[in-house]
Amino acid sequence: MTTEPELIEHVVQPGETFRDALEQLKAHGEAFSEVRVGEITVGRNDGPPRACNSCNACCVLPGINHFKKLPHRPCQHLNQRKRKCGIYATRPGVCEEYYCLWIMGNFETDDRPDKIGAVVGAFDHNGALASIQVDSKAANWPRIEAIFRQLCGSFPRVQIVVDDKTIVIAEAGKGLRRGRILPRPSGDYESTIYELEEGQ
Ligand code: SF4
Ligand code: SF4
Repeated sequence: MTTEPELIEHVVQPGETFRDALEQLKAHGEAFSEVRVGEITVGRNDGPPRACNSCNACCVLPGINHFKKLPHRPCQHLNQRKRKCGIYATRPGVCEEYYCLWIMGNFETDDRPDKIGAVVGAFDHNGALASIQVDSKAANWPRIEAIFRQLCGSFPRVQIVVDDKTIVIAEAGKGLRRGRILPRPSGDYESTIYELEEGQ
């Protein structure tokens, strides 16, 4: 008789990345099926349960240092007519290892990033553990707000970045704060550097 792997729920703390948590679990040889932050699945031993199909939102919305690609610009290797990566078989690790939170099985089936105009990921940039990157021209705001509320129930810190211009941060104990995205230093194409509005 085979036994289902034990579900280990690991709550990621500020300063720790979920990748660290996954690596530690693997290094200790523990059987696990998935790692969650609260109710949000951030890693699965058997890979993502959904498929990208024609979505390529993460090839456009986030900045990617590896390609010197700024946010909201298509990757140089993206075939936009075919909606496919032109170097899929040899794409670098930064692409191969990236999974958004939707493909990991979170949110509604119809919330695929290209359909709601937002890529949702778990990061530790600036201590913000969950980030929603929104293209306002394609945004389905009711769904994005619902996802934002869901993330706030699990992550200690959640940010929404709209058009790489404005940011809203929700942090436990501090409520909502707003700010604007600042220019990145030379050679940095992906950090989220921001200035909060006065009085926040
Ligand atoms: S945003 Fe998610 S679903 Fe879309 S291409 Fe990237 S990993 Fe796949
Ligand atoms: S190399 Fe391919 S998978 Fe990676 S960002 Fe570019 S188009 Fe997307």
